[in-house]
Amino acid sequence: MTPKRIKLSIKEALLEATSFLRLRDVDHPRGEAEFILAFSLKQDRIYLYSNSERMLSTSQVENFRNLVQRRAKGEPLAYITGKKEFMGLTFQVNENVLIPRPETEHLVEAVLEWLDFYYPKSATEGEIRILDLGTGCGNIALSLAYYRKDVYIIGVDIESEAIRLAWKNASSLEIEKRAKFMHGDYADALPTGSNFQVIVSNPPYIQRGELPFLPPEIRHEPLRALDGGPDGLRDYKTIMQLAHSRLLKPGLLALEVGEGQGRAILELGDRWGFISVGIKKDYAEHQRVFLFSSPT
Ligand code: GLN
Repeated sequence: MTPKRIKLSIKEALLEATSFLRLRDVDHPRGEAEFILAFSLKQDRIYLYSNSERMLSTSQVENFRNLVQRRAKGEPLAYITGKKEFMGLTFQVNENVLIPRPETEHLVEAVLEWLDFYYPKSATEGEIRILDLGTGCGNIALSLAYYRKDVYIIGVDIESEAIRLAWKNASSLEIEKRAKFMHGDYADALPTGSNFQVIVSNPPYIQRGELPFLPPEIRHEPLRALDGGPDGLRDYKTIMQLAHSRLLKPGLLALEVGEGQGRAILELGDRWGFISVGIKKDYAEHQRVFLFSSPT
């Protein structure tokens, strides 16, 4: 027996998916449905409007419904499509890495501003060395290298799949020659004696006790990229210690920080002799990025 044919036009498929996603409390159901359909047809969203009466094949409908169901169960769009925009660039992502967030762009912008100040003219290629701790898909390090052709980046991550993904992203952005990604636990992954003008990190910073209460979408992301230990500060303590011995002068330590952690971060910085040189707020007005210069 041949399988039953499903007859749906693009417009009908979108209506069906939109009401399905709305029933499952997905925000922006129409936009998400369009995004998923465009992705599954390998087209852009405009195509859906100019071809709204086109009939989909049975396998196209099945494939689309399958992706919509994954989304309805809370799987983030970025894991379904395998990509995410960050700093105007496209990064490959998967469930082994945190999905880059818009607020992390403030961190990258702060580092770029610091570089413009200390190195207004481009330095010799590779002269400026930047270390990114917990690099994930490499989004922070690679966007820095993309926008400053004179920097050399080293990204470290404890998850080997993240390192593989970061290399892929380096290759599609054509920055492999100015990048190195190392697998390991922060300092253990680094060669002894290597120093940096900039150390940057968006470490896991959620307090362990809060993890069970995170929205379902975030619970699809790797726990290791979220869990900052009992007080949410575990990684900052390690990073400060590492930066204390690895940051050059002039040097910048730039950290993304969770809500309400600002005071603790300033105290930690002070304890390690760093000088607080700036705090940046995110789009929601939370103190999000903390900037320190090397001890004098
Ligand atoms: N560096 C990546 C990002 O900022 C991953 C961070 C993490 O895994 N905590 O998106």
